[in-house]
Amino acid sequence: MKTYIIFGPPGAGKGTQASLIVEKYNLLHISTGELLRSEIRSGSELGKRAAELIDKGCLVPDEDVESMISAKYDQNKDVDGFLLDGFPRTVAQAEVLERMLERRGESVTGVISLMIPDETVKERIRHRAMVENRIDDTKDEIIENRIHEYHSKTEPVADYYKAEGKYIEIDGVGSIEDVFAKICEIL
Ligand code: ADP
Repeated sequence: MKTYIIFGPPGAGKGTQASLIVEKYNLLHISTGELLRSEIRSGSELGKRAAELIDKGCLVPDEDVESMISAKYDQNKDVDGFLLDGFPRTVAQAEVLERMLERRGESVTGVISLMIPDETVKERIRHRAMVENRIDDTKDEIIENRIHEYHSKTEPVADYYKAEGKYIEIDGVGSIEDVFAKICEIL
């Protein structure tokens, strides 16, 4: 079973590209952001804890996202693999993922990183705020905090996979089709 990770700052286009990739390669898209928003809508305890943090632009606790990810792996046995979007977002999460896959006799296949500058991140998130109804997209202060969380906690995840030779970076600025074509070349 393959496990790909789509990586990059908030607003890099991970979700958009992930939808195209999973369709073409018969993978299951696991988006921690989407899973968390669905927990929030359901009013679960996890959802309540997550809502407070997400609305401040902070990350939710590692344990909460980890349990959602392993549940998805257990529930889906008839796909060719998984595409993780929004996970791992910390080095601790990357280590947990490695142990989880090891127990299944598997490992991360590759990491595709979409790179865009911070200024583009802000423009895209402001645009998304008009299209989707996400509180964490509307306030500059929250967006700044998410970018800060990304640089301090998530960027080190890239080094983790670079050290394993599993990290490929592509330019995320360009049309949806152009970026997707570059991803397909790699896959
Ligand atoms: P974006 O990629 O635009 O940041 P997401 O939908 O992936 O949006 O995530 C929204 C929010 O959900 C994040 O800002 C964070 O608070 C929370 N979140 C998502 N994935 C994780 C994760 N792996 N660990 C901790 N928090 C997460």
